[in-house]
Amino acid sequence: MNIILLGPPGAGKGTQAHRLTEHHGMRQLSTGDMLRAAVKAQTPVGIKAKEVMDRGELVSDEIVSALIDAELEAMGDDVGAIFDGYPRTAAQAEQLDGILGKHNRALDHVIELEVDVDALVKRITGRFSCANCGALYHNTANPPEKEGVCDQCGGTEFKRRPDDNEETVRTRMDEYRRKTAPILPIYEERGIVTRVDGMGEIDDVTTAIESVIAPA
Ligand code: AMP
Repeated sequence: MNIILLGPPGAGKGTQAHRLTEHHGMRQLSTGDMLRAAVKAQTPVGIKAKEVMDRGELVSDEIVSALIDAELEAMGDDVGAIFDGYPRTAAQAEQLDGILGKHNRALDHVIELEVDVDALVKRITGRFSCANCGALYHNTANPPEKEGVCDQCGGTEFKRRPDDNEETVRTRMDEYRRKTAPILPIYEERGIVTRVDGMGEIDDVTTAIESVIAPA
């Protein structure tokens, strides 16, 4: 099974992709996570990408597609892939077709998380994660049970992404509207797009996605 989770920044792609990895043994392929790891490790890709990411603009198609290709190369053939934050442009969508073909894979579903953009800005600027294990939280929607302590690992250090500020978020929304949303018709023509309400409770969104990928 190979699926794409599509939706503007903050739509909940990362949260939902993570849940699918736990429930279905699939692998989350997040180009955002890969790029952040490259920035942290100061690899040549990371050094090149950092400024672009800090501005909320898109990194080059060649860089992100090469990251995805390398991940699929290293994965077992029988492990399903959840593409999270990729593809983001028409060129990437075309490159993904080539990459999937090379690895004898085919796309099963494209799931678009539908959201209200103004609510998203609030959502994004409130999110943070455990500095130790990476568990995701939100100031109001999903705070840790005990304030200042991670539910998953008991860690007490938290961090926010540098690009989760209002100005960068608006640029990222704009990039989505101009470059990513227009790729949906490519997949609509193939009849593999499902729209899911991304503004509901996290559990309800998961249930809706699961009914698409594993109908009862
Ligand atoms: P994300 O975590 O998916 O919101 O990505 C964070 C940032 O990484 C984006 O704002 C872009 O600068 C960059 N990025 C992640 N995925 C891609 C992609 N598929 N194409 C281009 N840039 C990307």
